[in-house]
Amino acid sequence: MQTHKYDVVIVGAGGAGMRAALESADRTRTAVLTKLYPTRSHTGAAQGGMCAALANVEEDNWEWHTFDTVKGGDYLVDQDAAEVMCKEAIDAVLDLEKMGLPFNRTPEGRIDQRRFGGHTRNHGEAAVRRSCFAADRTGHMILQTLYQNCVKRGVEFFNEFYVLDLVMNEGRTAGVVAYELATGEIHVFQAKSVVFASGGFGKVFKTTSNAHTLTGDGMGIVWRKGLPLEDMEFFQFHPTGLAGLGILLSEAARGEGGILRNSEGERFMERYAPTIKDLAPRDMVARAMSTEVREGRGCGPDKDYVLLDLTHLPPEVIDAKLPDITEFARTYLGVEPYTEPVPVFPTAHYAMGGIPTNIEAEVLRDDIHVVPGLYAAGEVACVSVHGANRLGTNSLLDINVFGRRAGIAAAEYALKAGWVELPEAPEAATVQLLEGLRSGEGGERTAAIRKELQDTMDLNAQVYRTEATLKQAENDISVLKQRYANVTVQDKGQRYNTDLLEAVELGFLLDLAEVLVVSAKARNESRGGHFREDYPTRDDVNFMRHTMAYRSVDADGTPGVHLDYKPVISTRYQPMERKY
Ligand SMILES: Cc1cc2nc3c(=O)[nH]c(=O)nc-3n(C[C@H](O)[C@H](O)[C@H](O)COP(=O)(O)OP(=O)(O)OC[C@H]3O[C@@H](n4cnc5c(N)ncnc54)[C@H](O)[C@@H]3O)c2cc1C
Repeated sequence: MQTHKYDVVIVGAGGAGMRAALESADRTRTAVLTKLYPTRSHTGAAQGGMCAALANVEEDNWEWHTFDTVKGGDYLVDQDAAEVMCKEAIDAVLDLEKMGLPFNRTPEGRIDQRRFGGHTRNHGEAAVRRSCFAADRTGHMILQTLYQNCVKRGVEFFNEFYVLDLVMNEGRTAGVVAYELATGEIHVFQAKSVVFASGGFGKVFKTTSNAHTLTGDGMGIVWRKGLPLEDMEFFQFHPTGLAGLGILLSEAARGEGGILRNSEGERFMERYAPTIKDLAPRDMVARAMSTEVREGRGCGPDKDYVLLDLTHLPPEVIDAKLPDITEFARTYLGVEPYTEPVPVFPTAHYAMGGIPTNIEAEVLRDDIHVVPGLYAAGEVACVSVHGANRLGTNSLLDINVFGRRAGIAAAEYALKAGWVELPEAPEAATVQLLEGLRSGEGGERTAAIRKELQDTMDLNAQVYRTEATLKQAENDISVLKQRYANVTVQDKGQRYNTDLLEAVELGFLLDLAEVLVVSAKARNESRGGHFREDYPTRDDVNFMRHTMAYRSVDADGTPGVHLDYKPVISTRYQPMERKY
């Protein structure tokens, strides 16, 4: 075992982690621990854009952006946090520009902007051009730009280090425990501040736009420490995954004029959102698509998808602004988007919920109290700027704004705080977890359990949910958890043991799926990405509140989920009917 000592440890080298590192490394001794090479983080897969009311191509302002974010989130957004994000958006984009990010430009040389779902002019009048972009590779450019700037400033990275535990002492942050993939060695990092920036958990679903690595480790670690998770029932299903595959086709396709059609050739979004049609928020579009399919107007031999029509766009616009995603359609479905519509269907995309924080990115241990020295930012966190449904391009914004804030706050805390003593054998729980898995002889296979988990989640906790389907998912997860106790890892070695780590990751997925389903079952209403067929309307009287899930342990030692709720922070906007 090796030990290290840093003022600040950042877990994750995606957009949020590296944006935090740029702030913290200038001020303190900072280490970034990441299970992937930084440039393989999922931020690099982001396509469509990052929004800010720059007003470069038409009138816009941050207050309209805040309103859209709150309304888009079906009023579950903490409005103070949304105000911070939308105000700081402008500098967040300009900071990236100064770091060298090659944004698409207008003929006059300004940063170009395009339309995205739910972003409107003057509180819903019409779609507005607010999203800054670099073709359909915006996330790739952000990730590369941040990485280059980290390298320039000498940020210390520990690549392919899997953080598996958070070390605390009497309620205060003391460090983390990590597993080095190359050697199988355990490392203890003592730190005054720890920032979780470890991304989402889309791999609980089968059909997902998320990378294989998005297994929610950060949320899982914090959960096992007895800290709460917020609003986990709110998962976003992106309307346009490639049918049958889930690979994402950015909403930018519709921002640039793409149209969704059913088997009758009808532009069906005109019926669901007469004003902004195909650019309605994602929850509404995903549900509309599922409804079309359910009512028999799906396309293809099994009538199980709808079509994204780009054929009216000039090929040069497609090539300049949507080159990657059109190539995906050609490669994976053999469809030529210049001349043929592309089969699409909703795909699990984004976790609105996560580790609760305040606007300084400090992690909360209950409704109001923070955990000293612990921070979270990006998809792993719930600030909550996205409420019940995130607007497109608000996540690349979120990771930059709150990544920066987390880096500053963690560094400032470390500069004034003393060291928290490491408890005796801080690595003990991690060693026990790994040895337990390595020596398991029960014969259950990780891949089989993971597949069954993803199957039940797709079937029972997707775009449409009912008490019965959620109960089914809960039962299935409980059985899978029992089977997981008998999982057998075939690779018993020390070096590059991905078999072992996949088993660890599956443990996190099972925990998080359970929290999602239990939280969803108790929310007897429909709001944003959470749609209950048995309670199809929003219920502000009983459910205008955030879910706070806590890990509980029964008398016999079985862990479970205990739910509590906390109020939504409201500053300027009263909930209204959500029409588009
Ligand atoms: C296909 C796709 C397209 C998207 N397009 C857009 C878009 O156009 N606009 C937009 O706003 N949003 C978009 N999103 C969403 C957005 O990209 C993500 O929400 C955001 O990039 C998440 O950033 P992050 O820094 O929080 O996490 P990530 O970029 O996922 O990074 C997570 C990091 O944590 C590390 N990590 C995880 N677990 C551990 C562990 N146990 N130990 C150590 N390190 C760990 C990983 O190595 C990685 O470096 C898209 C998402 C997808 C999947």
